[in-house]
Amino acid sequence: MAHAHVLIVEDEPEIAELIRLNMEKEGFKTDVLHTGEPAVEFVQSNQPDLILLDLMLPDIDGLEVCRRIKWEPASRETPIIMVTARGEESDIVAGLEMGVDDYITKPFSPRVLAARIRNVLRRSGDAKEADAKQEHLDRGRIRINVDRHEVVVDEQSVDLTLTEFQILVYLCERPGFVRTRDQIIGAVHGELAILSKRTIDVHITALRRKLGDAGRCIETVRGVGYRFEERLGADAF
Ligand code: CA
Repeated sequence: MAHAHVLIVEDEPEIAELIRLNMEKEGFKTDVLHTGEPAVEFVQSNQPDLILLDLMLPDIDGLEVCRRIKWEPASRETPIIMVTARGEESDIVAGLEMGVDDYITKPFSPRVLAARIRNVLRRSGDAKEADAKQEHLDRGRIRINVDRHEVVVDEQSVDLTLTEFQILVYLCERPGFVRTRDQIIGAVHGELAILSKRTIDVHITALRRKLGDAGRCIETVRGVGYRFEERLGADAF
């Protein structure tokens, strides 16, 4: 998305300016705000395409900004990339559970940031188009027939338990997105027994084993959760 409008919320002026210059160079239209409250208002009235949100702000913190943005119907769908410092995994988890689309940890290179922004914009565009539940999920070597509960890896059918199947579908629905353990629990709950976070790890281990080599697509994001990355299973041949 060329000339997408990115709102940068960052309280340190030098960092904000550095990001702004680099993102303009990458072809984005930018606005910069240094505090949280005005950011919430700006998002309502200006509808940016994406928000780059620093977690540590002087007035209200990034999580609160995120909560308010996601609470307003007008801005609920606006993608957010959270900017965190190292060691803020619990905040990352909280942000993801609040609906943050991605996060990036300081220090980061402008090029990586621009790539993340493009990724999130593309994915949220895709998600809008494919909002209806998909019957088939083709993810490289892994093909899923959601209605028929069938999983095929490299043309070989794979037997999964219902829980394993639901976890796989949930992760595959939005490839590249990190999902926390609580989000996974929320997605697979229902008539099933109550799952704990540790149980999720056990199911993931079993799922990876059954998928064989393609199981590498399910990536552990330390301290945060799991993510499906098609390319991780692609170099096996
Ligand atoms: Ca800050």
